[in-house]
Formats: sequence, C-alpha cells, structure tokens
Amino acid sequence: MDQNFWRKCIVCKNEIAFRAKYYKCSVSSCDKKRAPAQFCSVSCWDVHRSVMNHKSAGADEYTSPSKEKWAQEQMNSPKVRVVRPQSSQEKITSTSSDMSSDEVLVVVSKLKAFVKEAFDLNTSADVIPVLSDVLRNECQKASQSAHRDGRKTLMARDFR
Ligand SMILES: [Zn+2]
Ligand SMILES: [Zn+2]
Repeated sequence: MDQNFWRKCIVCKNEIAFRAKYYKCSVSSCDKKRAPAQFCSVSCWDVHRSVMNHKSAGADEYTSPSKEKWAQEQMNSPKVRVVRPQSSQEKITSTSSDMSSDEVLVVVSKLKAFVKEAFDLNTSADVIPVLSDVLRNECQKASQSAHRDGRKTLMARDFR
C-alpha cells in the first residue's frame, strides 16, 4: 500500500497530505470510525455544515499523522486493508453518497405546514423521500455546473 496522502477531503475529494493541517466537524457524530469525516479547508467544512444543517458547530483544526504513524495504524487494523483492499477507499468515497442515498433533506414539519397553509392539503409521509430525491437531483445537476466552473462552492446561479 503505497499512498502518498493520508485521506481525502470528503467534500472536494482533494488529498490531505501526511503531517498536514486538516479540519474536523465539532459535531462528534459526524466523524465515525467507519466513515471518517475530514475536510481540507474550513470552506469545505462549511459546505458540510450547510448540508448537515448544523446550527452551532465549528471546524476543529487537526494535523494529519506522519506517513510512518499512519502506516503503523494500518498494520494494526489489518482487516480493512488486507482482507478487502478496496473497501476502505470505498468507505471514504461512499460517505458522501451514503449521505445522499435516502437521507431526508426537507424539514418535514415546515413542508407539511406550508402545503396545508398554501393548498389546504395534508402531506403523506411518502412525499418526503420523493422530494428529497428531487433536491438531490437538482443539487447534482447544479454541482456539475459548479465543477465546470472549477468552483468549490455551490451557488444559486448553478440552479438556473
Ligand atoms: Zn476539501
Ligand atoms: Zn458535521
């Protein structure tokens, strides 16, 4: 396993080098052992913060381990690397797609209140995942436009 970076930023997928500065979300549940969440910059964390809708969270600064230390850690947890060499890489990349698979992206109570108020209709529970999918699709289209511009931030104009 010869890898010259430590991990990838889960937002922009840029490589975070060994012994380099990186950031973690101050919400501890965001960083899971099986799906670590690390960011190359505060602005990447900020994207995460708005996606996760954190009300009061911060980005904590850390320094990634040296390559030697990291390699040793890998040796100590051989299951991930040796048994299924692909899986740890997949885990990291799937962090964002896990997030984008079936997570509810709308504020259900607000949506229901709005539909009731505006159209005098109740909202069935199965509307929520469908609407979340709509949002995901729109975001996906929009992020392609942001990528085309070489931007790291999704902007309102990407949705037009
Ligand atoms: Zn990044
Ligand atoms: Zn977070």
